[in-house]
Amino acid sequence: MGAIVRTIDKEKIMVATRMFLEAIGEDPEDERLKRTPERVVKFWEEFLNQGGGDIRVFEEKHNGLVVIKDIPFFSICEHHLLPFYGTAAVGYIPRGKVIGLSKVVRIVTRFASKPQLQERLTDQIADYLWNTLKPLGVIVVTKALHFCMAMRRLGDQTTQTVVAALRGKFYDDAALRAEVYNLLKMR
Ligand code: ZN
Repeated sequence: MGAIVRTIDKEKIMVATRMFLEAIGEDPEDERLKRTPERVVKFWEEFLNQGGGDIRVFEEKHNGLVVIKDIPFFSICEHHLLPFYGTAAVGYIPRGKVIGLSKVVRIVTRFASKPQLQERLTDQIADYLWNTLKPLGVIVVTKALHFCMAMRRLGDQTTQTVVAALRGKFYDDAALRAEVYNLLKMR
């Protein structure tokens, strides 16, 4: 997992943003909106390129449960192109390999920084750790507020969606799962 260099078609985003503004009855040439298309370009350029950099794996004998929780993430729902944000908790039981804690944060950021579904985001984090560390088990729980729901008053504005992805031992062993859910109790 190296640096991300996602290039975007700036001109297309500018044209699309102008058209979108027009379509909802705004005047894209109006002074207050004139720079909006280029701001949108800048936002996407920055947003899509977060969470890059190398993820180093260490050989380590530790084989107890590792849990990192309350990792904040910000993503964009691919159904509405509106934000959803929340926290992720990541747990794994190493089998000879670990990664730095800050790298776990980077992995979450990387998979969140594109149009996403919370379910897929959760799976991608779990699969990345499962495939890279080949641990005994991985558990990822994400908890998020979706603007596409909250802004339309679908449910309470604080309604959260919780998604879990389980791999290996966490999938097979209900007692272990219960133990880790207890540890993972998130803010
Ligand atoms: Zn949505």
